[in-house]
Amino acid sequence: MSTHSETVSSIYQQIVDRNPGENEFHQALYEVLETLSPVLEKQPEYAKNKIIERLCEPERQIIFRVPWEDDNGEIQINRGYRIGFNSALGPYKGGLRFHPSVKIGTMKFLAFEQTFKNALTGLPIGSGKGGSDFDPKGKSDNEVMRFCQSFMTALYRHLGENTDVPAGDIGVGSREIGYLFGQYKRITQRYESGVITGKSPQWGGTWIRHKATGYGAVFFCEEMVRAVHNEELKDKVAVVSGSGNVATYAMEKLRVIGAKVIACSDSSGVIIDRNGIDVDTVIHIKEVERARIKTYLDFHHDAEYIDGGNIWDIPCDIALPCATQNELQQADAITLVKNGCIAVCEGANMPSTPDAIKVFQQEGIAFGPGKAANAGGVASSALEMQHNATHGSGFEYSEERLHEIMNHIHRDCCDTAEEFGEPHNYVLGANIAGFRRVANAMLAFGII
Ligand code: NDP
Repeated sequence: MSTHSETVSSIYQQIVDRNPGENEFHQALYEVLETLSPVLEKQPEYAKNKIIERLCEPERQIIFRVPWEDDNGEIQINRGYRIGFNSALGPYKGGLRFHPSVKIGTMKFLAFEQTFKNALTGLPIGSGKGGSDFDPKGKSDNEVMRFCQSFMTALYRHLGENTDVPAGDIGVGSREIGYLFGQYKRITQRYESGVITGKSPQWGGTWIRHKATGYGAVFFCEEMVRAVHNEELKDKVAVVSGSGNVATYAMEKLRVIGAKVIACSDSSGVIIDRNGIDVDTVIHIKEVERARIKTYLDFHHDAEYIDGGNIWDIPCDIALPCATQNELQQADAITLVKNGCIAVCEGANMPSTPDAIKVFQQEGIAFGPGKAANAGGVASSALEMQHNATHGSGFEYSEERLHEIMNHIHRDCCDTAEEFGEPHNYVLGANIAGFRRVANAMLAFGII
């Protein structure tokens, strides 16, 4: 073990001891830190200035009570969070997640990942994440509105277009963004569009934001499959987990470029449609009916539904995990390899466990980590902020721009992996490329 790997292991242990029980945060830290020794070796100023120790400690962590009244007149209490992880490159930027599984460790893992992802975009954004253990599923529109208003009433004083700019994530789509922005505007008496992104294009959003994460993941996957296997996605068979925002638009773009998506899922089960998943039906079910994916069978009688099924058991060439963290485990990775899968590209944040990633790397499967592959969403958010700063004039943001940004991120990961002697190791490439950009800014600012 080199001195630098010993240093990194000891830093990791100190952070784990200081943040007990935050397993997802520990996992995200481990995945990054285990790849950083070579860059510490090459550039000793990072270790000397304790950049890693500083980078792993969030700048601020806000936890607050969110009381609201349900439709039966009962008072409900949830917990809200907002982590400002790193502002070396710009205001805190990252989504809000409303899901019953949300805990402080979930927030910190997501905000930590966001640090590297946002740096990879090359745009002026720092990192943050927030959310609540509130479950929007099964709630009426009025209940969701009252919850969002209470959440924003507690949080608004910490936000601002130059301070901290939230967006959506699991459980937070355009409906929730509307209620949150409405309450911010009402309390502050300011129409500060750039304080939140993922807005509807009618009131300050960009038309492509809600598609950008899914589209971007496919653009990244396309480049990666070319670079690693010298192949095209056209005519490949794909499976995409989840059926929310990221999954839907990944499926749409895969279809447009000629791949065939035969399966998607939600947390209850898996839909298989050998004719190709009909994305318009998925959008209708999820955004209009707000129903379970099983409802797909009402529209497509040839399709099959497996209650509680595992999407990774379905043979495919390309797999895109687009649902949630740790949804793809070692046994799933082994099954995918056995079934001939050639590429796995993460639309979700940290969906593959470290054991699963090891399998892909050992077997020569092209593997695109979420912090690089799903950066299209936050990149388009940064452009939405720029658009808002111009008060809506003279700004054009197109799908071509998103494509360019994703190709640039892909190239950056590839070049960095090659520089450190590990060609096609996108995990190492993404971690080191993102780290260097943030670390260099932190060095320039002195001890803060
Ligand atoms: P959504 O809430 O729109 O969709 C999440 C989807 O995942 C739902 O279909 C949900 O099903 C499904 N899901 C959740 N848990 C499981 C599970 N255990 N097994 C199978 N399906 C599951 O969220 P997003 O699409 O916005 O986010 C998905 C992932 O992408 C997250 O990891 C998020 O952090 C990441 N991401 C999102 C970005 C964005 O722009 N939205 C940007 C970058 C990353 P159900 O309805 O049953 O819960």
